[in-house]
Amino acid sequence: MRRRDDAELTAALAPLTETYGGVKAYFRGTRDPSVCWSMTAGGIEIGLSDYLADAPDAVILEFVAAAMRKRDRPPTPLYTEWMACEGFTVGKQDLFLARSRNLAGTPVGTHHDLRDAVRRLIDADLIGADDVGDARFTWTRRPNRQRIGYCAVSMRVIAVSCLLDDPDVPEHVLDYVVFHEILHLIRGPHPFRRPHDRGFNAMEAAFPRKEEAERFLRHFTQVPIRNQL
Ligand SMILES: [Zn+2]
Repeated sequence: MRRRDDAELTAALAPLTETYGGVKAYFRGTRDPSVCWSMTAGGIEIGLSDYLADAPDAVILEFVAAAMRKRDRPPTPLYTEWMACEGFTVGKQDLFLARSRNLAGTPVGTHHDLRDAVRRLIDADLIGADDVGDARFTWTRRPNRQRIGYCAVSMRVIAVSCLLDDPDVPEHVLDYVVFHEILHLIRGPHPFRRPHDRGFNAMEAAFPRKEEAERFLRHFTQVPIRNQL
């Protein structure tokens, strides 16, 4: 899909003219997909994240309208569907990584390589190679203790706290953290479902040394495991 320019974005948001009198819109670079707006003499001025520059008009209109109704809204149905489409991350993933200041952008750490963890999970048949085909794995720059694993599902980016890039962290513990985050990828963007529901827990139970890994992490980070992944 071709990327729109500001004039085309303004045209895509023309239906909002009825509500706001006039609409002027522009794309802006943001770390996460978002909308900002301000009222002007001529109506409303809307800034939309440039991640949506190649989205269909209907997705753009729905995303902006929902954001303006409520700032903290869940992703909307058309947007969710668009995020899950083939090739969504092309061009966006690199931008997201470059804009995420806490992400190192590389899976290669000093003591562990996250790609090795992924390979071990594939070899153990816990995931399929297709599950992570276009996913990117990165260490964080800061040794986060409260959040040791993170999955940006729509961008297909998985980050692991560099706190775990430590020779004392066994492979199976790292594998468990990476496995947990990959499960979020496999489940895909589902805004109206709790991330760790019964279905998720059932999938996670397939990891053979789960309890042992959780015990290690609790001890190693001194933080309860449930909130960290
Ligand atoms: Zn999780």
